[in-house]
Amino acid sequence: MLERPKRKNPVLRTRLPTLPPAARSRIALGLTAAAALGRFELQQCKDCGAVQYPPREACQHCLSTKLIWQRQGGEGELLSDTLLHHSNDLFFRERLPWRLGLVKLACGPTVVAHLHAAIAPPPTKVHVSAKLDRAGQAVLVALPHGSTPQESDMAQDRQLREFTCDPKFRKALVVDGKTSTGQAIVHALARAGADLIWVGHAEPWKKFAGFDELKALKQVTLVPLDVTDSKNVREVAAEIGGKVDILVNNAEYHRAYGIGNRSGIDTARAEMDVNYFGLLRLAQEFGPVMRARGADGLASATAWVNLLSIYALANFPAHGTFSASKAAAHSLAQCLRAEMRPAGVRVINVFPGPIDDEWNQLLPPPKVAPAALASAVLKALREGVEDAYPGDVAQEWLERWRDNPKALEKELST
Ligand SMILES: [Zn+2]
Repeated sequence: MLERPKRKNPVLRTRLPTLPPAARSRIALGLTAAAALGRFELQQCKDCGAVQYPPREACQHCLSTKLIWQRQGGEGELLSDTLLHHSNDLFFRERLPWRLGLVKLACGPTVVAHLHAAIAPPPTKVHVSAKLDRAGQAVLVALPHGSTPQESDMAQDRQLREFTCDPKFRKALVVDGKTSTGQAIVHALARAGADLIWVGHAEPWKKFAGFDELKALKQVTLVPLDVTDSKNVREVAAEIGGKVDILVNNAEYHRAYGIGNRSGIDTARAEMDVNYFGLLRLAQEFGPVMRARGADGLASATAWVNLLSIYALANFPAHGTFSASKAAAHSLAQCLRAEMRPAGVRVINVFPGPIDDEWNQLLPPPKVAPAALASAVLKALREGVEDAYPGDVAQEWLERWRDNPKALEKELST
């Protein structure tokens, strides 16, 4: 059972974070790209049907180069296990002992996987999935058969926590607590066992709907936070930045306009100021302090969540300037991800379809309810994925965007 991480001695010098070995061939990045979306995919030969691991340029059975990435179920049998007490690798040396095993997958290959502590000694059935490690690369992780990492006892495994960002025993900042989405995320983090949740609210002199329910949560501390105010963001980061393990940037400004049905740029500028420059201000102030806490073991800073929009992928003309601000934020979030990776802090981008809020009133359903969005954020943290697309609209857009971005653009413009 996981214990609450000890408080860091503030007098101790912060060490540089170590990362697991990150070198992969270009071919092997297929495994990582799928894992970033929470999928377990292996190469399958189009000619002979063999599934292979590790990834290679050609089929190991028939030498065909027609290899495609196929989703795998992950069922397998643990053949042998070992508890590592020594490693030449600095990352693992700091985390010993470490449990590994050999798993024969039902789809064919035999693989080396990291083992969850609850797996019985071999031979036993296990479930293998691909997860991103602290270096952002895919590794294979075996969990007990018939259970998922969402269950709270599963998420407490010390090894599994190196690949995921479960909020239990962690401290989180939710940037905007005034929206129903923000409040749903705060309540979800509290239920998931977060130790402390700072909740930002711009214009702190105003009381808002849901304020009393937030204040009633014992984990919650309200902080005045306005992402359009550089000085305020800097001050809040100086005060709490060094303690935040999970930052959820859900600050959003949304008006339903295109280009032609509104004159002037005030609204578009306000959208950019929150959605793009807000992220930039947070990243400049909280990024360095969270990066500096990459070597604190189980008490390390672990995740940065951005609430983007599926409109970041393709412009939805009825919400044209909002789409553009989210596209800018998406691009910046990719930069942030690259900069946070050396510290093992995962940047998770969430691309919901239209949220059920006042700015989408005129849109027909289906819309994402705030509680559903909060569940998607929690799921992304627990599974340690990089991108999540909650809601039917987002899922459908994503499929069409992957299939043919130009066709999606044409469809949205009519
Ligand atoms: Zn083959």
